[in-house]
Amino acid sequence: MGDDPASRVYVNNKKKACEELGIYSEEYALAADTSEDELLELIDKLNGKKEISGILVQLPLPQHISEQNVINAINPKKDVDAFHPVNVGKIMTGNFDFVPCTPAGVMAPITQSRPAPRGKDCVVVGRSNIVGKPQAMLLLHQNGTVTICHSRTKDLAEKTKKADILVAAVGIPNFITGDMIKEGAVVIDVGINRLADKKLVGDVDFESAQTVAGAITPVPGGVGPMTIAMLMKNTIKAAEINR
Ligand code: NAD
Repeated sequence: MGDDPASRVYVNNKKKACEELGIYSEEYALAADTSEDELLELIDKLNGKKEISGILVQLPLPQHISEQNVINAINPKKDVDAFHPVNVGKIMTGNFDFVPCTPAGVMAPITQSRPAPRGKDCVVVGRSNIVGKPQAMLLLHQNGTVTICHSRTKDLAEKTKKADILVAAVGIPNFITGDMIKEGAVVIDVGINRLADKKLVGDVDFESAQTVAGAITPVPGGVGPMTIAMLMKNTIKAAEINR
């Protein structure tokens, strides 16, 4: 909904990924002043539409719309973002159909690198419902010892410096610097921040961090593309479930 330039880029990338994989997709670009009832009506229509296995509402929504009402309206079996309370609950128990796309995109490089989360100190900076909280649960399911840090955390650097695996999901450009990172740590940068000069940077100061980290994901090109890959994976799973 509306004309948020970042949302436009994300939606285009998702449509492109569908095309590349041969997944049929429909886009509904609604005007910013569309009412919540109209949006809910559209979701209801898509919930009942056989050709559609997955529904994604690109956030953020305009202020007059309740994001929670909208998320609640999506059929949990078509909720490929895994934001519906039913799917959030399933993530808590570890018995889930859909993994939220960004945390799943973070787990992919972690599980392919060393050390694996098992028994390791994992620190997640950020506690949003979309990234930080589900991220912590996924690391916990893989037997990591997880600390969640946030805007009220005291002595943040003291915590981040203990992390074997450090996930930054803060939304502040270059926030985590090399001196906050343990030697050899795996550092995953979720942040996507556009600077005044239009340059895209993460939440980790790549320059200083790369001299300390054992492995580090770049921005752009790290978690972003992995998020889309995980969305495609969820969509295929949704097609199987709905069939
Ligand atoms: P959010 O604003 O909802 O949450 C940010 C979190 O950072 C909050 O929990 C807050 O407590 C914490 N925080 C803020 N200031 C802090 C401080 N000084 N010290 C410690 N913690 C602090 O953001 P979000 O939706 O979780 O997104 C975080 C970042 O990840 C953003 O840059 C966003 O653009 C990016 N993002 C990327 C993808 C992707 O596909 N790569 C997907 C979602 C979000």
